[in-house]
Amino acid sequence: MNPTLAGFAYLIAAVLFILGLKRLSSPATALRGNRTAALGMLIAIVVTLLDRQVVGYLTIVAGIVVGGGVGAFLAQKVEMTSMPQLVAAFNGFGGGASAFVAVAELIRGGDVAATRTLVSIGLSVFIGAVTLSGSLVAFGKLQGIIGGKPFVLPFQKVLDGALVVAAAAALVSVAANGSTPGAWLLFALAIVLGVTRTMPIGGADMPVVISFLNSLSGVAASAAGFVIESNALIISGALVGASGLILTNIMVKAMNRTLGNVLFSAFGGETEGGELSGDRVARRASPDDVAVTLAYAQKVVVVPGYGLAVAQAQHTIRELADQLEAKGVDVRYAIHPVAGRMPGHMNVLLAEADISYDKLYDLDDINPEFAHTDVALVVGANDVVNPLAREPNNPITGMPILDVDRARSVVVVKRSLSPGFAGIDNPLFYLDNTLMLFADAKKGLADVVTAVKEL
Ligand code: NDP
Repeated sequence: MNPTLAGFAYLIAAVLFILGLKRLSSPATALRGNRTAALGMLIAIVVTLLDRQVVGYLTIVAGIVVGGGVGAFLAQKVEMTSMPQLVAAFNGFGGGASAFVAVAELIRGGDVAATRTLVSIGLSVFIGAVTLSGSLVAFGKLQGIIGGKPFVLPFQKVLDGALVVAAAAALVSVAANGSTPGAWLLFALAIVLGVTRTMPIGGADMPVVISFLNSLSGVAASAAGFVIESNALIISGALVGASGLILTNIMVKAMNRTLGNVLFSAFGGETEGGELSGDRVARRASPDDVAVTLAYAQKVVVVPGYGLAVAQAQHTIRELADQLEAKGVDVRYAIHPVAGRMPGHMNVLLAEADISYDKLYDLDDINPEFAHTDVALVVGANDVVNPLAREPNNPITGMPILDVDRARSVVVVKRSLSPGFAGIDNPLFYLDNTLMLFADAKKGLADVVTAVKEL
């Protein structure tokens, strides 16, 4: 293929990626953004297939059928709440692919390559392999295959330090001599490092780790782009690297943590402090009680959380809101940035139920409103409304929360008094103005809808 034409097509693909990302930043344009970026990827793939035939087309088609088949099957099968695991697996395979592309290039004649290329090969192998094993551990933790508890080895820091030094030596040997055994050694060391660095991180922090590994998979792909001199790969890798890092930053900020604290503090997975003392009693309510409380309110703020997603109760909450609005109640939704298990999780769910975006309020906008709210209706949320965040010395200290306890009354719909993701109790459930409706979110809300209709 004419190199100028190929270069131009790659440029168009890159522009489409950037436009796609821009459109993904608002729910209203996100679908179009996804399609725009997919079109960019299609152009990049077609041009690559026409431009350079490294292996036979039959091998490429076989790869597309097997890889595409597995990907399509998983994407259809995986529940929305398991999306972080799926992303982890995709990142891992992306990182692994970059590492293998780099090693393959070395085998193809890396010893005659320029130092710049050899450095890129070393970086791609190292970052790609760390991403591969780290992502597989993250997948295992979130899927419950390996326990979510932080697993800290004796002499963890010494071991990690030794692995980093050995990997740096292997990287230098790849960069200086184009050594293929050096590249495999680097690959092996990076695989071990990915495991030893991810195992000590608690399950509660895994979504942040996955976002960070997503960023690393982009950096590995970008380095692989320098190795095979593909502008499309360099640009798309850089975009993934940068957007993954921005997302990681948003997540750690919303949890009032730092990336270093998430990666190195062995937090989460098990109950650590924050237990409630004394014989507090929670006030149990029936669907009829909740219906009366809601129907005679003027202003209700719904706080959706992970449990709403698990129960797939988004359509039922919409039905309840419709009923209440028909009775003249002002219904709004408060969206915490880390409610659920991935950023934007609640926005996606509520959008599925056609709930208008202008009824969705961010934490900073809704918090001053709670003091003038009759009922805060908390559905399957826990950590994001836990007032312990305002107290010192517990795992969520300092995390910004939705101030639902400042509303005149609070209704919490969940199955039990069990803790949420951070593994700590929640004093909100025992407040005098809190009513607990113990039920699966979908079933409980459906019963409330029926009761409201009968009023
Ligand atoms: P939580 O995990 O704190 O609580 C969810 C609650 O949902 C549980 O206490 C559970 O109680 C309840 N629940 C589970 N299944 C059902 C069901 N079928 N029906 C009704 N309730 C149910 O969720 P939040 O959304 O409040 O907080 C998210 C947590 O995830 C935070 O700790 C956050 O830091 C963390 N996190 C989120 C990320 C993100 O990007 N969104 C990223 C990283 C971490 P019960 O068993 O009694 O029903």
